[in-house]
Amino acid sequence: MQLKTILNRVLKHSAFVYVAERLVETVAGPALEVQLRARANSRPRCSGCGRTGPGYDTLAQRRFEFVPLWGIPVFFLYAPRRVNCARCGVHVEALPWAVGKHRLTTAYAWFLARWAKRLSWKEVAEVFLTSWDQVFRAVEMAVDWGREHRDLSAITAIGIEEVQWQRGHRYLTLVYQIDTHCKPLLWVGKERKLKTLLGFFGWFGKERSAALQFLCSDMWKPYLRVIAKKACGGACAGSLPHHEPPEQGH
Ligand SMILES: [Zn+2]
Repeated sequence: MQLKTILNRVLKHSAFVYVAERLVETVAGPALEVQLRARANSRPRCSGCGRTGPGYDTLAQRRFEFVPLWGIPVFFLYAPRRVNCARCGVHVEALPWAVGKHRLTTAYAWFLARWAKRLSWKEVAEVFLTSWDQVFRAVEMAVDWGREHRDLSAITAIGIEEVQWQRGHRYLTLVYQIDTHCKPLLWVGKERKLKTLLGFFGWFGKERSAALQFLCSDMWKPYLRVIAKKACGGACAGSLPHHEPPEQGH
C-alpha cells in the first residue's frame, strides 16, 4: 500500500491531491516527502475571507510537518498560490492542512498537543523528532481552540505554573483550570512577570475573575497575593493552597 492511499483515507482534500511520495536522505536521517498540488481547474480560496477567486501567482514551495511514520519524519510539500480576491486584494490561499504561516500541519499539531498532556513538552519533541518550539506552538493552538469552544463561565479554581525553557533562560506562565478532572490549559503567557499574569486576567475578564474561589500556585507568593486579591476580591488572597502540580508536563 502506498502512503498516498493512507493519506487519502485519513486526510483527503477535495481541492488538492497527493501527487507523489519519496524517501529522501537528510543529515538528520531519512525523511518522507509528500508532494501535493491543487486539483486541476480548482480556484484558490482566499485565506482572508474564505471565498474563492482567480489565481494571481504561485509562491515558493513550503514544507509542512506531518505526523511521523515508523519514526520517520513526514513532510508535505506544496507551493501555495495567491488569490486575486475581490474583497481582500492579492492574498495567499487557504490550505486545509495548515493555518497561516504554521509549519506544522493541523493534524500534527493536534497529535503533539494530545501527547503534551501525557509527557513533558521536551519529551514530546524528542520522541516525535520535532522541536520544543513546535510542541509549544501545537499546545498554543490547542489552547486557542479551547478558548473559543469551551464554556468558561463556571470556573472556580485555577492553577498557575511557571515553566523554564531554553536552559532556564526563559519562562512561560501557564494557567490551568483545576476544578475539573482533566485540568485544561486555559492560557499560555510568554514570560513570568506581573504583567504576564495581568494579561491573563485581562483576557479572563472581571466577572469570571471575581467568581474564582481558589488560585493555586508555587510562583512568587507576594505577587500572587496581589493578583488573588484582584481576582477573588480578597477571598482567596490569604489562603493560597499548597501547589498541586497539573497533570500536564513541559
Ligand atoms: Zn478575500
